[in-house]
Amino acid sequence: MGCYRPTTLKLASAHCPRAVDFYEDGTSVYREHFDTGIAAHDVLAKIGEAILVKGERLTDDQMRQEAAIVARGLIESGRWFEGSRELPMHAENAFEGSHLAVAYATRPDTVWATSGARYEVGFAYDAKWQKVPYSDPRRRFRLILDKLEIITEEGEDYAGTLAVVTDYKSAWPTDESELATYQMRAQAVAAYLELGGKIDGIRRQVVNLRTGKTYSDDLWLESGGREQIAEWQDEITAYMDALDAMDQNGRRPARPGIGCLSCHYALACDADIKGVNVGAMAQRLAKLEGERAVLIKSLKAATGERSITVGDSSIGYHVTCSRTPKDSASGMMRAAWESSGGNVSGLVTAFKPTMTTLSAVAKLLRPESKDAQAALVAEWSEEKRGKEFGITRKGGPA
Ligand code: SF4
Repeated sequence: MGCYRPTTLKLASAHCPRAVDFYEDGTSVYREHFDTGIAAHDVLAKIGEAILVKGERLTDDQMRQEAAIVARGLIESGRWFEGSRELPMHAENAFEGSHLAVAYATRPDTVWATSGARYEVGFAYDAKWQKVPYSDPRRRFRLILDKLEIITEEGEDYAGTLAVVTDYKSAWPTDESELATYQMRAQAVAAYLELGGKIDGIRRQVVNLRTGKTYSDDLWLESGGREQIAEWQDEITAYMDALDAMDQNGRRPARPGIGCLSCHYALACDADIKGVNVGAMAQRLAKLEGERAVLIKSLKAATGERSITVGDSSIGYHVTCSRTPKDSASGMMRAAWESSGGNVSGLVTAFKPTMTTLSAVAKLLRPESKDAQAALVAEWSEEKRGKEFGITRKGGPA
């Protein structure tokens, strides 16, 4: 019986069961792009803990000082994670993560707990969901919460004590769909198991550190929340049992397809896709696209400073040259037009508008409302259907 964590369940769902094998085997993976997020998490935890000790919000300068200490430690010695020291972090990633965290931490609307919060708190459970020490060999499921706090909510519809689980995300596309992942459901289960007798509800909260947006959803225990938690707990148990059952001599089945596109293990993956029928070819294309994405990401990082030479070619960034309008271009065009005897309305008529022009003009005309801008752009444009070859998820692009 294996021990799972939200990351492994997510690997199985978003990619495939074979990706869980690679994770468990410690297959090396290009992971520098995780470092920014790791640094941001460490900084936010350090700031949060410092605020608990002080009992009041830190000043912006104090937050920056805490962040600098964390970044320095990551660069010098690497992160300490689950009992092991990781490799020292690249300074660029440590500083980027630190800046990201500070930008969020110092926002006036970021609420910091001065008591009743815990950061980077780990929980582990045995097969019967009984709490065990985090490193206990009987553990069946374990997870680390970025932040767990207890607040009092005085809403019109519901009021009471809420356990709030917060997950910080550094990925740009993070949105409310994160609330429905097993990661957030598992965090709600953990909060319930830890605090169930003392709370009236649980708030799942996801913060997009890039945009500063927070997405949240409340479960009130007396209004179906208890049943919901039990259902998620059963689903996680069934998912773990299924992943165990798939394991045949240390190998779970590969499921090449859309999940390969963003799979970190694409380069190491040994999924053998045979045949040249349409289905097999589609799977091979998805796998190749996944490999291509990892190769490009890794090579971009490796050749950032200097291209590498392979035979008679060079791989890396190369200088490109294109032309772009000067800031003064509109004024210069207008002056040239008028000096030839034309008027402004003739100049506007001579332009072939692009969608960018439409949006820019709509923004100037209706600065107060994005909906009104969109309505104008819709009025001035028309939909044209086309075809584009590629791999798409049902209901939208991958
Ligand atoms: S590359 Fe594709 S088949 Fe291989 S582990 Fe990743 S998702 Fe699975």
